[in-house]
Amino acid sequence: MQGLNPNRKIIHIDMDAFYASVEQMDNPLLRGKPVAVGGSENRGVVAAASYEARKFGVRSAISGALAKKYCPELIFVQPRFDRYKEISNKIRKIFYEYTDLVEPLSLDEAYLDVTKNKKGNPSASLLAQEIRLRILNETGLTASAGISINKFVAKIASDYNKPNGQKTVSPDEVIPFLEELPIRKFYGVGKVTTEKMYQLGIFTGVDLKSKTLDFLEKHFGKSGNFYFDVVRGIHNSEVKSDRITKSVAAEHTFDINLSSEIFMMEKLESIAISLEKRLKKYDVAGKTVTLKIKFSDFTQQTRSKTVPYFISDKGLILEIVKELLFQERMKDSVRLLGISLSNLNTEEKKFLVVQLKFAF
Ligand SMILES: [Mg+2]
Repeated sequence: MQGLNPNRKIIHIDMDAFYASVEQMDNPLLRGKPVAVGGSENRGVVAAASYEARKFGVRSAISGALAKKYCPELIFVQPRFDRYKEISNKIRKIFYEYTDLVEPLSLDEAYLDVTKNKKGNPSASLLAQEIRLRILNETGLTASAGISINKFVAKIASDYNKPNGQKTVSPDEVIPFLEELPIRKFYGVGKVTTEKMYQLGIFTGVDLKSKTLDFLEKHFGKSGNFYFDVVRGIHNSEVKSDRITKSVAAEHTFDINLSSEIFMMEKLESIAISLEKRLKKYDVAGKTVTLKIKFSDFTQQTRSKTVPYFISDKGLILEIVKELLFQERMKDSVRLLGISLSNLNTEEKKFLVVQLKFAF
């Protein structure tokens, strides 16, 4: 078993009330006011709340109606994901100037491994300060940070001095920090698990630590092992570099080169079926359809079309593919055809799922 590794330097950066802060920055009339992004007073759920709204108990994932009840002055605005993405990209560019080991958790949160960093700066705390200042200067928005030896502790620490603050838990502070930590603050311990922990007499890290691995596994299954380790400062999960799925594709190389568009369309239908399967597997949809064509002389061409809504259904994809196929005459016979879908809804998905759950 590996023990606590004191040698890594991990920063967790979290933008403060991100969606709401963007709306307040872009619209001066919303500044200093309680703002909810998403939902309305009649339906839907709140995706994010400004700090002014949080004072009234307005939080993400509560219904718009309840939010309005808590805070009658609440202003609802609709989310603008393109804008959030634009800012998110700016922030990620800043991260990459410090390290390539960036693992985004969402548009507004990421882990950075700065053990070795591009600035050659040994102080992760100073780096976090610098990064937060650059985010502020370049986007006008504030971020908070947690700094420690692993992702687990860094994530918990970033919440401590929010908004616009940071907290470092140095290697020698990790154990006392975790021992004193209320169990509900352990990352990965949700409402249900918290209740269960309470029933077992576990209220803080110290209580958790007093339980054997057997005991924890008996009551929490596989997670038991996780709880046993993290409370001892052991969490060796690496910062998994970005590069989340940007596109999903399927293609096929033919035994005999094709020269008739009718045959090509037939092949494309079966390619679309495999593409649709993959999209289902990743549970994503996209806006941009690209047709890839490799000719018998090995040159390649791509033709793309973007629609204003997310699609994942093979019928809709094929309609666009057909259009792309007949857009221009083939200059040669074809040895490979492929379809890919990009401009994926990987980021919006979380929000949409919440919406669907509550919208009815
Ligand atoms: Mg945030």
